[in-house]
Amino acid sequence: MTARGSAPFADVRRLVVKTGSALIVDDSGAIRAEWLAGLAADLAALKSRGLELAVVTSGAVAIGRWKLGFGKRVLRIEEKQAAAAAGQVWLAHAWAEALGARGVVAAQVLLTPEDTEARRRHLNARATIAKLLEAGAVPVINENDTVATEEIRFGDNDRLAARVAQMASADALVLLSDIDGLYTADPHKDPSATHIAEVRELTAEIEAMAGEARPGYSSGGMVTKLGAARIALGAGCRMAIALGKRANPLLALEKDARATWFVPQASPASARKRWIASTVAPAGAVTVDAGAAAALAKGKSLLPAGVTAVSGEFDRGDAIRVLDAAGRELARGLSAYSAADARAIKGRKSAEIEELLGYRGRDELIHRDDLAMGA
Ligand code: GLU
Repeated sequence: MTARGSAPFADVRRLVVKTGSALIVDDSGAIRAEWLAGLAADLAALKSRGLELAVVTSGAVAIGRWKLGFGKRVLRIEEKQAAAAAGQVWLAHAWAEALGARGVVAAQVLLTPEDTEARRRHLNARATIAKLLEAGAVPVINENDTVATEEIRFGDNDRLAARVAQMASADALVLLSDIDGLYTADPHKDPSATHIAEVRELTAEIEAMAGEARPGYSSGGMVTKLGAARIALGAGCRMAIALGKRANPLLALEKDARATWFVPQASPASARKRWIASTVAPAGAVTVDAGAAAALAKGKSLLPAGVTAVSGEFDRGDAIRVLDAAGRELARGLSAYSAADARAIKGRKSAEIEELLGYRGRDELIHRDDLAMGA
């Protein structure tokens, strides 16, 4: 896979773009509408070529602090959360307008770290984002700052963006930043620092180049960007750190503007399966009949009809084992149903699910995208 060249998005199907607060909001809390319009034009152009796009956008606190009269001062956590509540409305509106002007529908999604981990809510958020993409909308995502408490928040949108890319099985992530990539040292301090165009492995040497996390107004320094790169590479997603503070930043990237590209070894699909397969302690198991075992071997999803037994206690979204009649492990996968619901629908047709459970869930007990076959 080539990372750079004249068409960095040529083989990309699903792209996540992250923009920082300083790009989208000026020093007095106003939206930088002209810049945003340029980015929206870039996104619309990529979309018209068939790419699926999601945006991770910061800026809620930077807008809201002025709306609430806090100004530039350092905010306490509850003030930040209040500022995010006031600012998020305007931020989402600005995106809806900018994308709307290009005929693209924006859809606000607010997430906490819990929503992107391998539990019930991961599947929910993944399914919602997939549905929005299928419907041609652009999810406009931010952290749900008003409810996320200090200990459990992402804190920086670089890591959130990487988690979103992982959750959505995106093949590329672009972090629009105040710098055009990674340097051998901080170029503001060391004039001999040189730019790194491509990284294939996050070695200790690379980590050392990021230096210390810079405290201050914006949270995402180079250290958090490398943290994001680690998540992205693990998810088989290529990632760029690119200069955002120019008009049409994605177009510039396509025209081979300087950036640092982090290039993964695996594809998003195989990385996701490896991640599922590596679950240390699956919460339960289902036993399947010979027909279902044969279907799984052909790469099909697991339907409730093929399940003969359910063991253990698990929630929707938990990783479970799939066993054959002799108890051998055939696969691991993320269950779309809790253990109790799985017991209620085992051996039954998918069309009966609604009658049995009282709600219309998925047809599959484990969707093939969420299934990792044994070695
Ligand atoms: N979620 C925060 C906001 O929208 C920004 C976090 C960050 O800057 O990374 O204001």
